[in-house]
Amino acid sequence: MKKKKANPGEPGPAEDFLLALQRKVAPATAPLSPSPQCVSPDFLSAFALDQDSFDLDDPRVVHVNECSYCFPRATRLRDFFKSPVLKTMSIH
Ligand SMILES: [Zn+2]
Repeated sequence: MKKKKANPGEPGPAEDFLLALQRKVAPATAPLSPSPQCVSPDFLSAFALDQDSFDLDDPRVVHVNECSYCFPRATRLRDFFKSPVLKTMSIH
């Protein structure tokens, strides 16, 4: 046997790290509603779909990366768009 199988149900170091990261980016005190500076859901979706096509100096991109409301949403959207189920669907 080359690889040791991970024990199911027991979180590995990577999972612990992700959990800690999620707590950091989405604290319990994260605002539940957008602030006036928050970007539109359309922008958030477009940004999540193709982050590379946006300029890092774009004030909206800067905002998303710093906002405790927008950032977790963008992350969730990105995960959603990356899901294999969606690849079989055409959104155009
Ligand atoms: Zn925001």
